Amino acid sequence: MKLFIPDRAYIDPKSLEYDVGKFAKEQLEKLNIPIIESKKVSIEGKSPSENYAKAKKTIYLTVNKEKKLRPCSPSADYQFSLSSSCPGHCEYCYLQTTQGEKPFMRVFVNIYEIIDVIQEHIDKNLPNITTFECGSITDPVALEHLTGNLKRCIEFFGNSEKGRLRVITKFDNVDSFLDINHNKHTKFRFSINTKYIINKFEHNTASFEERMRAACKIASSGYPIGFIIAPIMIYNNWKYDYNELFNELKSQLGSHKEEITFELIQHRFTATAKELILTRFPKTELDLNEETRQLKWGPYGKFKYVYPKEQSSEIKDYISDIIQKNFSNSRIEYFT
Ligand code: SF4
Repeated sequence: MKLFIPDRAYIDPKSLEYDVGKFAKEQLEKLNIPIIESKKVSIEGKSPSENYAKAKKTIYLTVNKEKKLRPCSPSADYQFSLSSSCPGHCEYCYLQTTQGEKPFMRVFVNIYEIIDVIQEHIDKNLPNITTFECGSITDPVALEHLTGNLKRCIEFFGNSEKGRLRVITKFDNVDSFLDINHNKHTKFRFSINTKYIINKFEHNTASFEERMRAACKIASSGYPIGFIIAPIMIYNNWKYDYNELFNELKSQLGSHKEEITFELIQHRFTATAKELILTRFPKTELDLNEETRQLKWGPYGKFKYVYPKEQSSEIKDYISDIIQKNFSNSRIEYFT
């Protein structure tokens, strides 16, 4: 897919004290992106959906001051961020409720300070291995062409004895990671789904085919790989479509000898997310009917609507079964 090009960029003057900030500014200038140096971002749309659309084309170069990293169960020990938000417009995205009405993209330029914080967390946990997720509030690959920061992180983890990185993406801009010394310390997971779900709900992200090509390149470069199948939805023909998805995965990666992991996440939504989704995507065809769902208490202090027990077990059994039939080298990390 084409690399993301913002419509406008705000730059926190502090970020120009960092080499990555200067580099990113140069990239933006080469692309003729209007640049505003400011300590805050101003987005003035006429409606919530216009605010959303404008924000998703706006970046803000700034500094990440986080010193204490948050835990990241079930996928890693901690999470850190190279950016927040992303250029994708996935209708169901769980970040809908956490990034405000104007989810512009913060792009953090102080990479070596971020790496220092990571190192402190690794040191505190010695002699154990500490794992880090960098895709909890962003897509870390989508904005890589503006900073090169994920590549720097992969190199850092490649040299780290006790630190491991987990990357998750729906984008395919992976070429800059192929020839670097990752030492198998970074695991790439591609978020994939049936073509119906990708085409209908995951706007402005790489297509199924593009993600598969990127996954094959990453696998050939020796990275550990995995797939997140999320959100798994029940709709007409869902079983047929998920079966197709794994058939295609097998045809592309059937000869891959190393382990392939799978993380399985069923579709869920909160009442607040539903409200926001309906203002941003008034014609959405997402199934947001509370009456056909069951309430589950979430770790972030909110109830979420998940599939009732019987359906969620059906999803878990059906998908796990196809994975095991198709991939003898697979491991399902969790279903939630
Ligand atoms: Fe959300 Fe990921 Fe889609 Fe971006 S790509 S909108 S982070 S689900």
